[in-house]
Amino acid sequence: MMWIDPRSGAVVAKSKFCPGCESVKPVAAFPWWKKRNAPYPRCYDCVNKKAREQRALQRARRPSDASRRGYFFTAVEIAKLADCINRRMTSKEAAMVMGRSPDSLNQARRNHYLPRFRFPSRAPAEPHKWRDDRLRAVAKLRLKGFSFSMVGRELGETRDAISGAVRIYRQRIAELQAHEARIAMGSR
Ligand SMILES: [Zn+2]
Repeated sequence: MMWIDPRSGAVVAKSKFCPGCESVKPVAAFPWWKKRNAPYPRCYDCVNKKAREQRALQRARRPSDASRRGYFFTAVEIAKLADCINRRMTSKEAAMVMGRSPDSLNQARRNHYLPRFRFPSRAPAEPHKWRDDRLRAVAKLRLKGFSFSMVGRELGETRDAISGAVRIYRQRIAELQAHEARIAMGSR
């Protein structure tokens, strides 16, 4: 394990002495200190040890309280969380699996330096309802003077669905109508 100082570029150390457990450990066993651009003096096992012991004690006393607050994650739960992330789940999917809120899972993920959850995709699951050929049919029928309900009867839609589509896609429908009109006139 190498620790390269980002300022000088020098290889500073491969291992560090931890005064907490009084042993030499690789630099990867130490949390990173953002302000100092250096690892912490104490290793993961020793940093916040007292607080973690306090929390474990609290959890042993009142397990339901600790789990409801959601700040305590056991090693098993962290392993499960890492597995969820490795299986490319979103935070909501992982929350469904683990029975925690997505926010608490994200907090635990940060605390334990795990990679991010998959970002939820915004692509629609099924192909779009108002494809160009259907819009073309709407444009043609509207040009003939059909009402929304008549167009809807032709295409198997409700009147409101047609009126909504005409409003949302009015620019595209206007283009298609202009195209139709041009074909009807026989120019070009
Ligand atoms: Zn230590």
